[in-house]
Amino acid sequence: MDKKRTELIVSAIRSGTVIDHIPSDKTFQVINMLNLEGNENQVYFGTNLYSDKYISKGIIKISDTFFDKTEINKIALVAPTATLIEIEDYEITKKYKVELPKTVEEIVKCFNPKCVTNTESIPTMFKVIEDHKGTMKLSCHYCEKTMTKENIEFL
Ligand SMILES: [Zn+2]
Repeated sequence: MDKKRTELIVSAIRSGTVIDHIPSDKTFQVINMLNLEGNENQVYFGTNLYSDKYISKGIIKISDTFFDKTEINKIALVAPTATLIEIEDYEITKKYKVELPKTVEEIVKCFNPKCVTNTESIPTMFKVIEDHKGTMKLSCHYCEKTMTKENIEFL
């Protein structure tokens, strides 16, 4: 599949945000996490598209929506390869790769039921770390338990 064809699959938007280079199997997770189901603007998405590197990817386009830092951090946690493109009047005004934050505050729930953040109303806080294989993990500031991507539950 050439590039032209890939671009034809998902329509252009006049203004809004394109989330490109999402791992294909994470596309629906990003849609759910950003509550796009309830978004009243136009939302287009595609999965299992082929990028230039012949790696299957997902893409989401949301008109008239721009994301704040918290939402961008969420995207980075689920889809660390994602690129965000902001569009105004069909022009790209901003394009950048998401970056994993060093710490994650208040957006993720600790998976340890005994953690003080679950038993008392204390906001969660995690350090973003990588193990020796380069796998991203979140380490709870309070109970020091470490969770992998699979355990991540957004608040
Ligand atoms: Zn904890």
